[in-house]
Amino acid sequence: MRTLTVAAILLAAAPAVAQPSYDPAPLLESLRPNERARVPREAGVAAGALPLYELSIDLADDLAGFDLDETVWWTNDSGRPLSSVVFRIYVNAVAAQPQVDLIEGECLDNVSCNTSMPSADAIVVQPAAPVPAGGRLRVHMRLRGRLQAIDPSRTTLMGQGLEGLGSLSGGHGSGDYGLLAQSDGVASMAAFFPVLARMRAGRWEQSDSSTMGDLGSDSLANVSARVRVADGVRVVAAGIEDPPLVVGNRTEVRVRAAYVRDFALAASRRFEHHDRTVAGVTVRSWFVDGDTASGDRALDAAARSMALFTRRFGAYPWTELDVVEAPLIGGAGGVEFSSMVTVANMFYRPADAGPQGGLLGSLMAGQGGPGAASLEQRRESMIEFTTAHEVAHQWWHGIVGSDSREHPFQDEALAQYSAMLYVQDRYGDARAQRETRDQVTAGYHMMRLMGRADAAADQPVASFADTMSYGGVVYGKAPHLYPALRQAIGDRAFFAALRGYVSDHRFRVAPPRALYARMARGPRGARVNALVTRWLDETHGDDDLGQPDLGQMLGGAGGASDPQSQALLRQLQQVLGSSGGGGAGLEGLLQQMLGGGAGGAGGGGGLDGLLQQMLGGGGAP
Ligand SMILES: [Zn+2]
Repeated sequence: MRTLTVAAILLAAAPAVAQPSYDPAPLLESLRPNERARVPREAGVAAGALPLYELSIDLADDLAGFDLDETVWWTNDSGRPLSSVVFRIYVNAVAAQPQVDLIEGECLDNVSCNTSMPSADAIVVQPAAPVPAGGRLRVHMRLRGRLQAIDPSRTTLMGQGLEGLGSLSGGHGSGDYGLLAQSDGVASMAAFFPVLARMRAGRWEQSDSSTMGDLGSDSLANVSARVRVADGVRVVAAGIEDPPLVVGNRTEVRVRAAYVRDFALAASRRFEHHDRTVAGVTVRSWFVDGDTASGDRALDAAARSMALFTRRFGAYPWTELDVVEAPLIGGAGGVEFSSMVTVANMFYRPADAGPQGGLLGSLMAGQGGPGAASLEQRRESMIEFTTAHEVAHQWWHGIVGSDSREHPFQDEALAQYSAMLYVQDRYGDARAQRETRDQVTAGYHMMRLMGRADAAADQPVASFADTMSYGGVVYGKAPHLYPALRQAIGDRAFFAALRGYVSDHRFRVAPPRALYARMARGPRGARVNALVTRWLDETHGDDDLGQPDLGQMLGGAGGASDPQSQALLRQLQQVLGSSGGGGAGLEGLLQQMLGGGAGGAGGGGGLDGLLQQMLGGGGAP
């Protein structure tokens, strides 16, 4: 997609100046003892040669903002002299307004540098002389950031259900997911500090052609952070946290993380945690006071999926895994970071559906019919499925790297499939089939109902028309490749290939089709290749996944029996009927619903307004 040349000026490289390197030993303690020598070997990068982000973060007492002092230790491993180093502040690439400002930037060790920002999310640091191959540079930056305040009424299952439906049809840059935000006493900080830009074909990537999906560079780094917060605020972060120190009337938490592809943290006075040890790893579930039952459900799902994935895919390398309740928005259910995942707090609280909850509930609860789940049962399934999906990302993206911009299916479809595997392993085939239909296939069906065509699953994020197509194809269709492969080659060969794929590519970036090449080595190679082509390159979704049945999706669930829901359903079906097959009609209606939902002062008023709108002003309760 990007054809690039190396500028001739780079030939005039200055002689290597001996710059200090850092001691990686304390950072490596975030890896399990038997991994500390193994991981650097597998990654092919000595720990001290990885970029180090030294972060000093002062979080305001009201959690609304922070000061950040950052030093980056960088070694030029590109194999050629480079005239500049580019950093990205990814939250600024997706947020409606830039949330993090650079106050000053400079190079250390008597190296003179020019710092510029070609956009709000890119920082270009240009030393007086190019940095030779293998040369080092230390860049120091001071920044200030704001946490977006999210009204707690937005982070409910209903509020997010509507927002999710709206964002599905949004185009490029449909907003962030609450990456850098605070709500209800919880601060959530991701993508908030400058990180080295992705390098493609020897050139820094200064912007993104799409902001859908996961941004970031996918490359490995070490992080050492000091986080200062008001007394009583608890901090959770990727890596390991040392016991808090009292510094004046503030608390300081030191954090170390090695061989991570990203770094995030959360802070709250309200955090509690419950822990479990699984195969030598501490799994820690962090939740807001009052959400204990859900926090325990997330802990249980995380611990059991950790045990299953360790058995099926191979060892987890870090000493800890934190699962954190966070105020996510934009329809996001969870976000993965190396050794830490966040799960949306909408799943942690009983779904107060309100009067219109019947129909919306059934919309969210997936298909009806015999055995249809109530919204409350649905919420419990969703917290488990989401947690398992995010834990699976520790293997698919964290341990085995993949290019999340060019081949997003590679980690996402495997994470979805791993969550399906978790349900099957824990609850058996019948429930696994139901959950697959409701949590996976439903995304594809909803996309088709919205009038989007099926598409090849293995495409760059930027090639998908919108988030609805991206979600429907990558999360809804592509995961079905794996049960088909498993059936074709049998359990033994299938799981051996998954384990082999992990051991071949631990702490590297795996080629997108490497797993299937392994599976195709057996006697059923032709069948494997045919399945891969069918599910990743071709468009047989309707044949393979069946036609969506909106009547069943909406009307079958027992929850839609109240009069308001019935009226809403009639109107919905009318709109669908009049649009001759579904497409634009349903989308328009959902956008109308969303407009109603977002316009109110809070979820309640907005939803009432929505209901009135839907009932044609016929008098909402
Ligand atoms: Zn994912």
